[in-house]
Amino acid sequence: MAFSRDRDFLFCGFCGNMLTLSSVKYATCPLCSYKRSTKEIAGKEIKYQVTSQDIRRELGISTFGEGTLQLATISRKCEKCGNDEFEYTRKQMRSADEGQTTFYTCTKCRDTITEN
Ligand SMILES: [Zn+2]
Ligand SMILES: [Zn+2]
Repeated sequence: MAFSRDRDFLFCGFCGNMLTLSSVKYATCPLCSYKRSTKEIAGKEIKYQVTSQDIRRELGISTFGEGTLQLATISRKCEKCGNDEFEYTRKQMRSADEGQTTFYTCTKCRDTITEN
């Protein structure tokens, strides 16, 4: 995933160090204390839109990182093969509007059910 490359604008304009999001309002450079408002960052990047959710995720407020899949199994009856075990995975969608999607995959026939 080219996620980090999409965020080159999150690097310090003076020393090139990666900016740290210190709050939802500012990203700061840990080396030279260069400060950039996240509003400015959001406005600068056209291809990649920074949403408040992205910033919260960066700050570790959201428990799921970008592209993180959590794998667990749950008991759920498969309508296709009658199996009663599903793999349960969650994916955080990139867009704030899409939120989190849960995938249930039958461990036997691999039939997948998605739920938002
Ligand atoms: Zn700097
Ligand atoms: Zn099945």
